[in-house]
Amino acid sequence: MKFAITSKGDSRSNTLMHKMRSYLLDFELVYDEEEPDIVISVGGDGTLLYAFHRYSSRLDKTAFVGVHTGHLGFYADWVPEEIEKLVIAIAKTPYQIIEYPLLEVIIRYQHGGKETRYLALNESTVKGAEQTLVMDVEIRGQHFERFRGDGLCISTPSGSTAYNKALGGAILHPSLPAIQVAEMASINNRVFRTIGSPLILPAHHTCMLKPVNEADFQITIDHLPLLHKDVKSIQFRVADEKIRFARFRPFPFWKRVRDSFVSDKD
Ligand code: NAD
Repeated sequence: MKFAITSKGDSRSNTLMHKMRSYLLDFELVYDEEEPDIVISVGGDGTLLYAFHRYSSRLDKTAFVGVHTGHLGFYADWVPEEIEKLVIAIAKTPYQIIEYPLLEVIIRYQHGGKETRYLALNESTVKGAEQTLVMDVEIRGQHFERFRGDGLCISTPSGSTAYNKALGGAILHPSLPAIQVAEMASINNRVFRTIGSPLILPAHHTCMLKPVNEADFQITIDHLPLLHKDVKSIQFRVADEKIRFARFRPFPFWKRVRDSFVSDKD
Protein backbone atom coordinates (compact mmCIF):
# COMPACT_ATOMS: atom_id res chain seq x y z
CA MET A 1 0.00 0.00 0.00
CA LYS A 2 1.18 3.51 -0.86
CA PHE A 3 0.81 6.35 1.62
CA ALA A 4 1.48 10.08 1.93
CA ILE A 5 1.45 12.35 4.97
CA THR A 6 0.57 16.05 5.03
CA SER A 7 1.55 18.14 8.03
CA LYS A 8 0.26 21.47 9.33
CA GLY A 9 3.91 22.53 9.32
CA ASP A 10 4.42 23.32 13.01
CA SER A 11 7.15 21.47 14.88
CA ARG A 12 4.77 19.14 16.78
CA SER A 13 2.97 18.08 13.59
CA ASN A 14 6.26 17.69 11.68
CA THR A 15 7.77 15.48 14.42
CA LEU A 16 4.68 13.30 14.38
CA MET A 17 4.73 13.14 10.58
CA HIS A 18 8.36 11.92 10.55
CA LYS A 19 7.63 9.35 13.27
CA MET A 20 4.61 7.93 11.41
CA ARG A 21 6.47 7.90 8.13
CA SER A 22 9.35 5.86 9.59
CA TYR A 23 6.97 3.43 11.40
CA LEU A 24 5.01 2.86 8.19
CA LEU A 25 8.19 2.35 6.14
CA ASP A 26 9.26 -0.25 8.78
CA PHE A 27 6.03 -2.06 7.96
CA GLU A 28 7.13 -1.99 4.31
CA LEU A 29 4.50 0.41 3.13
CA VAL A 30 5.59 2.65 0.23
CA TYR A 31 5.79 6.43 0.56
CA ASP A 32 4.27 7.96 -2.59
CA GLU A 33 3.27 11.63 -2.54
CA GLU A 34 1.87 11.53 -6.07
CA GLU A 35 -0.40 8.47 -6.06
CA PRO A 36 -1.14 7.48 -2.45
CA ASP A 37 -3.84 4.96 -1.51
CA ILE A 38 -4.08 6.60 1.90
CA VAL A 39 -3.30 10.16 2.98
CA ILE A 40 -2.65 10.88 6.64
CA SER A 41 -3.20 14.48 7.61
CA VAL A 42 -1.42 15.65 10.77
CA GLY A 43 -2.54 18.98 12.26
CA GLY A 44 -6.17 20.04 12.31
CA ASP A 45 -9.26 20.25 10.13
CA GLY A 46 -7.53 22.92 8.04
CA THR A 47 -4.72 20.44 7.26
CA LEU A 48 -7.24 17.86 6.10
CA LEU A 49 -8.96 20.50 3.93
CA TYR A 50 -5.57 21.21 2.37
CA ALA A 51 -4.90 17.48 1.81
CA PHE A 52 -8.35 17.05 0.25
CA HIS A 53 -7.66 19.81 -2.28
CA ARG A 54 -4.20 18.47 -3.03
CA TYR A 55 -5.59 15.02 -3.92
CA SER A 56 -9.04 16.05 -5.23
CA SER A 57 -8.25 14.69 -8.69
CA ARG A 58 -7.95 11.10 -7.33
CA LEU A 59 -10.75 10.90 -4.75
CA ASP A 60 -11.87 7.48 -6.01
CA LYS A 61 -8.42 6.04 -5.32
CA THR A 62 -7.35 7.81 -2.13
CA ALA A 63 -8.70 7.51 1.41
CA PHE A 64 -8.04 10.09 4.14
CA VAL A 65 -7.39 9.87 7.85
CA GLY A 66 -6.77 12.78 10.21
CA VAL A 67 -4.62 13.12 13.34
CA HIS A 68 -5.01 16.30 15.37
CA THR A 69 -2.20 18.05 17.18
CA GLY A 70 -4.44 20.81 18.57
CA HIS A 71 -8.05 20.42 19.68
CA LEU A 72 -10.39 17.65 18.49
CA GLY A 73 -11.25 18.15 14.85
CA PHE A 74 -14.18 16.95 12.81
CA TYR A 75 -11.98 15.35 10.23
CA ALA A 76 -8.88 15.04 12.42
CA ASP A 77 -10.11 12.68 15.13
CA TRP A 78 -7.00 10.69 16.15
CA VAL A 79 -4.80 12.02 18.96
CA PRO A 80 -0.96 11.93 18.83
CA GLU A 81 -0.85 9.36 21.68
CA GLU A 82 -2.69 6.89 19.43
CA ILE A 83 -0.34 6.94 16.44
CA GLU A 84 1.30 3.56 17.16
CA LYS A 85 -2.17 2.02 17.23
CA LEU A 86 -3.10 3.86 14.05
CA VAL A 87 0.08 2.80 12.22
CA ILE A 88 -0.51 -0.87 13.07
CA ALA A 89 -4.13 -0.56 11.97
CA ILE A 90 -3.11 1.01 8.64
CA ALA A 91 -0.41 -1.59 8.01
CA LYS A 92 -2.22 -4.71 9.20
CA THR A 93 -5.99 -4.38 8.94
CA PRO A 94 -8.25 -3.94 5.94
CA TYR A 95 -9.95 -0.68 6.80
CA GLN A 96 -13.54 0.35 6.39
CA ILE A 97 -14.32 3.22 4.03
CA ILE A 98 -16.86 5.90 4.95
CA GLU A 99 -17.98 8.22 2.16
CA TYR A 100 -19.18 11.81 2.70
CA PRO A 101 -20.90 14.04 0.12
CA LEU A 102 -19.12 17.00 -1.48
CA LEU A 103 -20.32 20.30 -2.94
CA GLU A 104 -19.85 21.04 -6.64
CA VAL A 105 -19.45 24.73 -7.56
CA ILE A 106 -19.54 25.84 -11.21
CA ILE A 107 -18.76 29.48 -11.94
CA ARG A 108 -19.69 30.80 -15.39
CA TYR A 109 -18.43 34.11 -16.73
CA GLN A 110 -19.75 36.85 -18.98
CA HIS A 111 -18.30 37.44 -22.45
CA GLY A 112 -17.87 33.69 -23.08
CA GLY A 113 -15.11 33.14 -20.48
CA LYS A 114 -14.33 29.48 -19.71
CA GLU A 115 -16.31 28.14 -16.73
CA THR A 116 -14.50 26.93 -13.62
CA ARG A 117 -15.49 23.93 -11.50
CA TYR A 118 -14.54 23.34 -7.87
CA LEU A 119 -15.25 20.75 -5.22
CA ALA A 120 -15.65 21.80 -1.59
CA LEU A 121 -15.44 19.57 1.46
CA ASN A 122 -16.87 22.14 3.91
CA GLU A 123 -18.52 24.97 2.02
CA SER A 124 -18.40 27.74 -0.51
CA THR A 125 -19.27 31.31 0.47
CA VAL A 126 -20.17 34.20 -1.81
CA LYS A 127 -19.75 37.84 -0.78
CA GLY A 128 -19.74 41.09 -2.73
CA ALA A 129 -16.23 42.18 -3.78
CA GLU A 130 -16.70 45.66 -2.34
CA GLN A 131 -20.33 46.16 -1.43
CA THR A 132 -23.50 44.40 -0.26
CA LEU A 133 -24.14 41.16 -2.10
CA VAL A 134 -27.19 41.41 -4.36
CA MET A 135 -28.03 38.22 -6.22
CA ASP A 136 -31.04 36.43 -7.60
CA VAL A 137 -31.37 32.97 -6.11
CA GLU A 138 -32.83 30.24 -8.32
CA ILE A 139 -33.68 26.80 -7.02
CA ARG A 140 -34.19 24.02 -9.52
CA GLY A 141 -34.43 26.56 -12.34
CA GLN A 142 -37.13 28.68 -10.64
CA HIS A 143 -36.66 32.16 -9.22
CA PHE A 144 -36.76 31.91 -5.43
CA GLU A 145 -35.72 35.32 -4.06
CA ARG A 146 -33.53 38.37 -4.55
CA PHE A 147 -30.91 38.21 -1.78
CA ARG A 148 -29.37 41.36 -0.30
CA GLY A 149 -26.94 41.10 2.54
CA ASP A 150 -23.41 40.15 3.53
CA GLY A 151 -23.37 36.84 1.69
CA LEU A 152 -24.49 33.25 1.30
CA CYS A 153 -22.87 30.07 2.55
CA ILE A 154 -23.52 26.77 0.77
CA SER A 155 -22.25 23.83 2.78
CA THR A 156 -21.92 20.07 2.69
CA PRO A 157 -23.29 17.89 5.51
CA SER A 158 -19.82 17.41 7.03
CA GLY A 159 -19.20 21.15 6.63
CA SER A 160 -22.48 21.93 8.39
CA THR A 161 -20.62 21.99 11.73
CA ALA A 162 -18.16 24.63 10.44
CA TYR A 163 -19.05 28.12 9.10
CA ASN A 164 -22.66 27.06 8.49
CA LYS A 165 -23.15 26.38 12.21
CA ALA A 166 -21.93 29.87 13.10
CA LEU A 167 -24.62 31.23 10.75
CA GLY A 168 -27.40 29.36 12.54
CA GLY A 169 -27.61 26.54 9.99
CA ALA A 170 -28.67 23.03 10.93
CA ILE A 171 -26.23 20.21 11.53
CA LEU A 172 -26.75 17.53 8.88
CA HIS A 173 -25.66 13.93 9.18
CA PRO A 174 -23.13 13.18 6.38
CA SER A 175 -25.08 10.13 5.26
CA LEU A 176 -27.54 12.60 3.68
CA PRO A 177 -26.63 13.56 0.10
CA ALA A 178 -27.66 17.22 0.46
CA ILE A 179 -26.41 20.80 0.50
CA GLN A 180 -27.46 23.64 2.78
CA VAL A 181 -27.89 27.32 1.88
CA ALA A 182 -27.46 29.69 4.84
CA GLU A 183 -27.73 33.47 4.88
CA MET A 184 -25.16 35.92 6.22
CA ALA A 185 -26.90 39.01 7.59
CA SER A 186 -29.66 39.42 4.99
CA ILE A 187 -31.39 42.79 4.69
CA ASN A 188 -35.04 42.35 5.59
CA ASN A 189 -37.58 45.19 5.78
CA ARG A 190 -40.77 46.29 4.02
CA VAL A 191 -38.91 46.63 0.72
CA PHE A 192 -36.49 43.72 0.73
CA ARG A 193 -37.39 40.18 1.76
CA THR A 194 -35.55 36.87 1.93
CA ILE A 195 -36.66 33.56 3.36
CA GLY A 196 -34.50 34.03 6.48
CA SER A 197 -34.20 30.29 7.18
CA PRO A 198 -31.47 27.92 6.06
CA LEU A 199 -32.57 25.71 3.14
CA ILE A 200 -31.58 22.07 2.70
CA LEU A 201 -31.59 20.84 -0.89
CA PRO A 202 -31.52 17.20 -2.03
CA ALA A 203 -29.03 15.85 -4.54
CA HIS A 204 -31.20 16.43 -7.61
CA HIS A 205 -31.87 20.13 -6.84
CA THR A 206 -29.53 22.88 -8.00
CA CYS A 207 -29.07 26.30 -6.44
CA MET A 208 -28.03 29.01 -8.90
CA LEU A 209 -26.94 32.55 -8.01
CA LYS A 210 -27.17 35.28 -10.65
CA PRO A 211 -25.73 38.80 -10.26
CA VAL A 212 -28.18 41.68 -10.44
CA ASN A 213 -25.76 44.59 -11.10
CA GLU A 214 -22.26 44.10 -9.68
CA ALA A 215 -20.56 41.03 -11.25
CA ASP A 216 -17.38 40.74 -9.13
CA PHE A 217 -17.48 38.48 -6.09
CA GLN A 218 -15.31 37.15 -3.31
CA ILE A 219 -15.90 33.40 -3.45
CA THR A 220 -14.37 30.95 -1.00
CA ILE A 221 -13.94 27.23 -1.56
CA ASP A 222 -13.25 25.88 1.94
CA HIS A 223 -10.19 27.82 3.14
CA LEU A 224 -9.36 29.25 -0.32
CA PRO A 225 -10.61 32.79 -1.08
CA LEU A 226 -10.68 33.96 -4.71
CA LEU A 227 -11.89 37.13 -6.41
CA HIS A 228 -13.99 36.28 -9.47
CA LYS A 229 -14.72 39.02 -11.99
CA ASP A 230 -17.47 39.27 -14.64
CA VAL A 231 -19.47 36.41 -13.16
CA LYS A 232 -22.60 35.33 -15.04
CA SER A 233 -23.78 32.67 -12.58
CA ILE A 234 -22.64 30.41 -9.75
CA GLN A 235 -24.17 26.95 -9.61
CA PHE A 236 -24.19 24.67 -6.55
CA ARG A 237 -25.23 21.05 -6.25
CA VAL A 238 -24.23 17.81 -4.56
CA ALA A 239 -21.16 16.55 -6.46
CA ASP A 240 -20.98 13.14 -8.09
CA GLU A 241 -17.63 12.62 -6.33
CA LYS A 242 -17.37 11.79 -2.64
CA ILE A 243 -14.56 11.98 -0.12
CA ARG A 244 -13.52 8.60 1.32
CA PHE A 245 -12.34 8.36 4.92
CA ALA A 246 -10.47 5.32 6.21
CA ARG A 247 -12.15 4.21 9.44
CA PHE A 248 -10.32 2.00 11.91
CA ARG A 249 -12.72 2.33 14.82
CA PRO A 250 -16.23 3.63 15.29
CA PHE A 251 -16.49 7.33 16.10
CA PRO A 252 -20.12 8.19 15.39
CA PHE A 253 -20.86 11.62 13.94
CA TRP A 254 -23.23 12.64 16.76
CA LYS A 255 -20.60 11.73 19.35
CA ARG A 256 -18.13 13.96 17.51
CA VAL A 257 -20.73 16.76 17.52
CA ARG A 258 -21.31 16.31 21.24
CA ASP A 259 -17.61 16.08 22.10
CA SER A 260 -16.84 19.21 20.07
CA PHE A 261 -19.71 21.47 21.00
CA VAL A 262 -21.40 20.24 24.18
CA SER A 263 -19.05 18.27 26.42
CA ASP A 264 -16.45 15.54 26.03
CA LYS A 265 -17.30 14.06 29.46
CA ASP A 266 -19.43 10.91 29.46
P1 NAD B 1 -9.30 28.17 10.71
O1 NAD B 1 -7.98 27.71 11.14
O2 NAD B 1 -9.73 29.58 11.04
O3 NAD B 1 -10.36 27.08 11.23
C1 NAD B 1 -11.56 27.42 11.65
C2 NAD B 1 -12.09 26.40 12.65
O4 NAD B 1 -13.05 25.62 11.94
C3 NAD B 1 -11.11 25.40 13.27
O5 NAD B 1 -11.36 25.37 14.66
C4 NAD B 1 -11.49 24.07 12.62
O6 NAD B 1 -11.28 22.94 13.49
C5 NAD B 1 -12.95 24.29 12.38
N1 NAD B 1 -13.51 23.42 11.35
C6 NAD B 1 -13.08 23.25 10.07
N2 NAD B 1 -13.87 22.36 9.46
C7 NAD B 1 -14.81 21.98 10.36
C8 NAD B 1 -15.91 21.11 10.30
N3 NAD B 1 -16.22 20.46 9.18
N4 NAD B 1 -16.69 20.97 11.41
C9 NAD B 1 -16.39 21.63 12.55
N5 NAD B 1 -15.37 22.48 12.66
C10 NAD B 1 -14.60 22.65 11.57
O7 NAD B 1 -9.46 28.04 9.16
P2 NAD B 1 -9.07 26.81 8.27
O8 NAD B 1 -8.35 25.81 9.07
O9 NAD B 1 -8.46 27.37 7.06
O10 NAD B 1 -10.52 26.25 7.94
C11 NAD B 1 -11.34 26.85 6.99
C12 NAD B 1 -12.73 26.70 7.51
O11 NAD B 1 -12.94 27.69 8.52
C13 NAD B 1 -13.77 27.01 6.47
O12 NAD B 1 -14.06 25.89 5.70
C14 NAD B 1 -14.93 27.46 7.34
O13 NAD B 1 -15.84 26.40 7.59
C15 NAD B 1 -14.32 27.85 8.65
N6 NAD B 1 -14.71 29.22 8.94
C16 NAD B 1 -15.56 29.42 9.96
C17 NAD B 1 -16.01 30.69 10.26
C18 NAD B 1 -16.96 30.87 11.40
O14 NAD B 1 -17.28 29.89 12.06
N7 NAD B 1 -17.45 32.08 11.62
C19 NAD B 1 -15.59 31.78 9.50
C20 NAD B 1 -14.71 31.54 8.45
C21 NAD B 1 -14.28 30.25 8.17
